[in-house]
Amino acid sequence: TTEENRPIIIIGSGYGGAVAALRLCEAGKKVCMLEMGLNWAKSGISFSKMQKPGKSAAWLKKQSIAPFFNLFSLEPFTGALDRLDFKDIKIWVGRGVGGGSLVNGGMAVLPKRDYFEEIFPNLDSKLFFDKYFPKAQQELKVNVAREEFLNDCKFYKFNKVGEAEARKAGFKTIRVPNVYDFDYMEKEYRNEVPRSALDGEVIYGNNHGKNSLDKTYLKKAVATGNLEILDLHSVQNIKNENEGYCLEVHLIDTSGQIVAKKLMNCQQLILAAGTMGTLELLLKSHAENGLQLNEEVGKHWGNNGNFMTGRNWVKAFSGGLGFQHSTIPVGGIDNWDDPKHTFFAELAPLPMGMNVATALYLMINKVDQPGSVSFDASTKKLVLDWSRKNTSKMEVNAKFFLRKMNKVNGGTRSHMLFHNGLGYDVCYHPLGGVVLGKATTEFGQLKNHKNLFVLDGSLIPASIGVNPFLTITALVEYCMENLLKEKAFG
Ligand code: FAD
Repeated sequence: TTEENRPIIIIGSGYGGAVAALRLCEAGKKVCMLEMGLNWAKSGISFSKMQKPGKSAAWLKKQSIAPFFNLFSLEPFTGALDRLDFKDIKIWVGRGVGGGSLVNGGMAVLPKRDYFEEIFPNLDSKLFFDKYFPKAQQELKVNVAREEFLNDCKFYKFNKVGEAEARKAGFKTIRVPNVYDFDYMEKEYRNEVPRSALDGEVIYGNNHGKNSLDKTYLKKAVATGNLEILDLHSVQNIKNENEGYCLEVHLIDTSGQIVAKKLMNCQQLILAAGTMGTLELLLKSHAENGLQLNEEVGKHWGNNGNFMTGRNWVKAFSGGLGFQHSTIPVGGIDNWDDPKHTFFAELAPLPMGMNVATALYLMINKVDQPGSVSFDASTKKLVLDWSRKNTSKMEVNAKFFLRKMNKVNGGTRSHMLFHNGLGYDVCYHPLGGVVLGKATTEFGQLKNHKNLFVLDGSLIPASIGVNPFLTITALVEYCMENLLKEKAFG
């Protein structure tokens, strides 16, 4: 075991970590970022397509881990997509430099202002909607597809049919902004550049087109000369020593074997390992090293109301949803103003390379019953207090939605995709557990720890009502601006 020292360490290179890194580096601070996954951009290894899962398809698994159709066996590799399995919920996360931005659908959605105020009653929502959200949109390179393109492009037939069906059933549809570069996509369509979204690339990574964090925040942070990124560095636990922290780190190879062990000391630590990673490190270090935690840590956890569902026999005899789907979603159903059935639903692609006449929806609901997270010292595993009862209202909404859609448009609940057509256990958006202003100060400093900051999805209590990365980015921009103003980093 070797020992190394750094002034500031950030654990994790997703949204929270990337924003924190850029703002610290711009302020002239030397920052070391530890990421358990691979630096894909640097490795030269390409991402695999959905129809042909390869190296990037799964984090050290022998079989693919997509939400369905996992017929593919794999050679274990430090892939970009991981799935954490609990009894009544499966949680997908990104691994690698860029975190979730490598594998996500790129949907950059502003939360409803009323709901933002309900979730964060102590934040100045005007300031967020005037300043931090626009700043996040600009840095993340958010853009919107041209309507003419969406109308003409055969890869978006699934969306066109989906929107028409939703409107016919009396729902409101909306256009959803994205970080995928739609100019690039138009060139893909014209065959002027290599195809990515139009060639089945997304949850195992995009080789082109998507402005993931390695192309935005992290690129700018590296350009300052102040950021050191160490990939394949998996932090095992945290020990509080004097005023600083000592991390036990495993350096792994791409087959997951430990090749070296390091102790890394820092004066200041930023935890940005994503909701599940941050909770695991905090709760495990508490159990094993006596890291002091306040009683709010682990509370107000939720799945952002994620509930997947689908319909079969969609326009089966009149062309279905098209043979080829772009992997990048652009449409949604906004039923948020209905007090009885409050939800938002993404019209998700099903890029299988054939016309399966099946529509897939990722619903986002309110979380009326948040769960909690703890650590079992005997099994050394996180335990989620979360069961089907936590998703019962979401299930009511899903059944309502399916009933309404099928009645007007035909089609049946998709038993092909999910048992009874109800994907209650699919979660892409774990949130909460280290809530801003509860487990932390108003700017993300963990209570009773002068030098430990939590800056990621765990700050949001259980749900935000839309896909969360834009909100995570804006929150961390806000926290960092204020922490730097307070001279929290010297
Ligand atoms: P993350 O982005 O999860 O980053 C955490 C990083 O920390 C990871 O790279 C991880 O490997 C690393 N890490 C964890 N533990 C350790 C450790 N012990 N040591 C070292 N490193 C560690 N959101 C949207 O807004 N729009 C979408 O369209 C969208 N689509 C999605 C699709 C999929 C398939 C998935 C899985 C998610 C999607 N999301 C989407 C969710 C979004 O990606 C996450 O909310 C977001 O990435 C969370 O950001 P974060 O900063 O909290 O952490």
